[in-house]
Amino acid sequence: MGAFLEVKNLKKYFRTPHGMLHAVDGLSFSINQGKTLGVVGESGCGKSTLGRLVIRLLDATEGSIFFEGEEITNKKHSNDLKRRMQIIFQDPYSSLNPRMTVKETIIEPMIIHNMYRSGKEVLNKLSEIMDTVGLAQRFENSYPHELDGGRRQRIGIARALVLQPKFIVCDEPVSALDVSIQAQILNLMQDLQDAKGLTYMFITHNLSVVKHISDDIMVMYLGMTAEISGSDELFEKTLHPYSKALLAAIPEPVVHSGRRRILLKGELTSPIEPKPGCRFAARCDYATDKCFAEYPVLEEIFPAHFAACHYVREINGLA
Ligand code: SF4
Repeated sequence: MGAFLEVKNLKKYFRTPHGMLHAVDGLSFSINQGKTLGVVGESGCGKSTLGRLVIRLLDATEGSIFFEGEEITNKKHSNDLKRRMQIIFQDPYSSLNPRMTVKETIIEPMIIHNMYRSGKEVLNKLSEIMDTVGLAQRFENSYPHELDGGRRQRIGIARALVLQPKFIVCDEPVSALDVSIQAQILNLMQDLQDAKGLTYMFITHNLSVVKHISDDIMVMYLGMTAEISGSDELFEKTLHPYSKALLAAIPEPVVHSGRRRILLKGELTSPIEPKPGCRFAARCDYATDKCFAEYPVLEEIFPAHFAACHYVREINGLA
């Protein structure tokens, strides 16, 4: 069997009063079963749009998506797909219905999808899933506003898991949480992946968050791939100037590298009707006239390690 999830030349453009906004612009990648792809980039780079495209909450403008060998590019976000693909959102509070208790929130998908024959089976599953995500049974009748952020995110995870999906898009699932709770949720997600063989696309603006949970990392810049490789490789042999800036922004105790902080200057290029050059050129210390005129193609620099930069070899002493 090929890749569990495969995306080819995926594009999503939105019509705006000022022209077409290129939110996702020609992404290609794959994820193997039981693995995690970390998708990293600044706010507005198109990573959340990508997550919604992949699980068919949004229609693609161009390109194709294959899931478990089946092309789903134009398939509706049907009950069948919902059972196989789920999403966990960034803000657990706004993604939960404030009028529903923990119990009602978690059992709702089971009832909609008619998963169990009796109420007893549903309640057994509720109890099992609450145990799995570390939510004490005493919170069963609590409302979201009565719980802290970590517990609310555990409800979001329970709700996603209850349909027994194989693939989960995790859209900034810990960025609204305190640092100590972030670690708990990340550990929980990793344990669940190990126990259930889940496949994740883990979207975040924070490279340090995905370092340990990802097998591969794709760095996105304004709808396009700047760099993609194995997670360890990306941290050890960072190639693209934008990835280097993201890495240098990670606090020292995480990286231990003595890297100097790189301040990104210059204006963010508009994603509306973008010009043909490298989208990072206005902020890149190495930019030349060529960078403003031609978009660099994504090139394999080391085995399974790709970067899109005209001068990647010169910048990294590989020329
Ligand atoms: Fe910088 Fe040019 Fe490389 Fe773009 S192509 S990252 S502007 S050096």
